[in-house]
Amino acid sequence: MKNFKSGYISIIGKPNVGKSTLLNAILEFNLSSVSHKPQMTRHRILGILEGTDYQMIFIDTPGILKPRYTLQTIMMNEVKKSVFDNDITILVIEPKESDDIALAYIKNIKNPIILCINKIDKVKEKKELLPIVEKWNELNIFNNIILISALKEINLDELKTKILNYLPYGPLYFDKGTVTDRTERFYITEIIRESAYRVYNQEIPYTIAVVVDEYKERAQGKYYIKAFLYVEQLSQKQIVIGKGGSTIKILGSFSREKIEKFINHKVYLELIVKIMPKWRKKIDKIQKFGY
Ligand code: GDP
Ligand code: MG
Repeated sequence: MKNFKSGYISIIGKPNVGKSTLLNAILEFNLSSVSHKPQMTRHRILGILEGTDYQMIFIDTPGILKPRYTLQTIMMNEVKKSVFDNDITILVIEPKESDDIALAYIKNIKNPIILCINKIDKVKEKKELLPIVEKWNELNIFNNIILISALKEINLDELKTKILNYLPYGPLYFDKGTVTDRTERFYITEIIRESAYRVYNQEIPYTIAVVVDEYKERAQGKYYIKAFLYVEQLSQKQIVIGKGGSTIKILGSFSREKIEKFINHKVYLELIVKIMPKWRKKIDKIQKFGY
């Protein structure tokens, strides 16, 4: 289509550098989960920003790391695929850090790459940023380097302009007004998972796989949602449930409030904890969970 620009944009980078925050800030709409814990986003989340003459389709990828077990391998393949299928890659880093794994992934791609040095609000002496930009510039990998703060929304308009510059002419990939290609079930899953990170400490959230088993919209009264929380061992199940069901109750009401806000309707949420040994290592099961 002439005069219309569109394309796929991947946001890559290490866990916790601010990819989800950036995506949310760009989309001005809280779709993908933001968390204080690394490795929150296990799915590729598609968010779309559109104007009268462009459509930017963002893919939020899991944090890049060295695959240690099956789930991570799948996640990494998603990252690689998204980098090679896309139109623009955005690498996010923190001012004083590098990202050798990402650099290895991106050094052979031909499409434009933008480096976002994020969290500049944390750098008190702004002149410290100059040599950092210079150092990255010397690598000759990036079409553009931009200093941003996703959280404080610094330089995001400039970033959008840069993206638009590099966006190729293309078709309307999605109908106008499509916010995402994910279903409500998907977001409910994400909300419950995100809530688990707030309710449980340490490793527990990583041991939980969330599956929305039923989602019923009713003409009258509350919607009914049933979700299974799969864990690997009895001890994990006990922690997830808590004494007399106290902890899962907190998770339930926390998740319910957020789901209600998201779908704009009252819900009855039922959470059931089940044990499925080694779900993490079993590809078929992982795929059943939609990873
Ligand atoms: P992701 O793992 O790369 O998706 O990172 P998140 O978006 O979940 O962010 C990780 C943490 O960094 C969160 O606590 C964010 O609030 C924080 N964060 C993200 N961007 C910025 C920023 O520009 N400045 C500061 N100070 N914190 C940020
Ligand atoms: Mg994230």
